[in-house]
Amino acid sequence: MPNVRRAGPVTTDPAPHKVINPPTDITKIKSTDARASFRSALAGAAFDRLKDALESVECRPRDHVSYVLALCPAHDDREPSLAVYRKPGRARVVCHAGCDDVAVLAALGLGVADLFDEPRAPYAASRRFQSVPQVRTVRSVRRRVAPLEPAVVVGAYRYADETGRTLYVKERLEPKRFRQFVPTPGGRQWTLNGTRRVLYRLPEVLEAVADGRLIFLCEGEKDTESVRSAGVVATTWTDGAWQPGAAPKWRPEYSEQLFGGWVVIVRDRDRAGRATAWDVAGELRSVAAGVQVVRPAYGKDAFDHLAAGLGVSDFIAEENGELV
Ligand SMILES: [Zn+2]
Repeated sequence: MPNVRRAGPVTTDPAPHKVINPPTDITKIKSTDARASFRSALAGAAFDRLKDALESVECRPRDHVSYVLALCPAHDDREPSLAVYRKPGRARVVCHAGCDDVAVLAALGLGVADLFDEPRAPYAASRRFQSVPQVRTVRSVRRRVAPLEPAVVVGAYRYADETGRTLYVKERLEPKRFRQFVPTPGGRQWTLNGTRRVLYRLPEVLEAVADGRLIFLCEGEKDTESVRSAGVVATTWTDGAWQPGAAPKWRPEYSEQLFGGWVVIVRDRDRAGRATAWDVAGELRSVAAGVQVVRPAYGKDAFDHLAAGLGVSDFIAEENGELV
């Protein structure tokens, strides 16, 4: 029995796993023939083990000829970006978003030894064949995901530097989800790691700061575009809102880009929206010329408010309606 239990509710009815029971140590099998037959009995064991583990954490592995594609358990994956290949004597994992193999295995409750069909004693004997039941009997902390449906890109938002050069692009898909990429000469890099982060429509933001015009800081690109269509300068950041008490997804560079500006934070009317707006207001106090938090007078966000025919002057100011 595994002596370390992982977090998460225990499933009541673990399915029987397919891994055959090997001798505890293959090196104890003397005969070459016996060892060979043991090997062939184990062929594909690592591949099956990974596939089972992916299934058990609802990463939805889908079969292809010599590999499976699944949601990657190590990052917030909405498109299947993890490939598991069947190789002689072992399996190979490749996350196309760039997750480290060890991180992928760890998210499945597995270790590097689990990539191999044959146990490699003594490490393997002591741990490896405990790993599958361990995964089988606990649920991953990974949240459940909706069944995969064909997604359609319904919006593309370009994030550019002050000269207008594209740094990254965020796409909105229907059913609603987002993905981001950095355009590269060879195609798309599906991670923003190492990429400079900027506020949405940074050139317009910097111009408004210089001119002393109001900048409406919204929650998401859809709200931002809707506020812009009212004829004012609006912006957002790519990372989204956070729950009260959670680590802010606001970066110091965003504050720097608003240095000296007059900022109106338009929050969503929910707990995350309020927490986010006031956290950001706190960040901006010392750098902006003025900060005001407002909420929509109608609906759940700026988009609803404007779609109802209200204007930017109809937002409801919070904290005594004064720029503080
Ligand atoms: Zn990944």
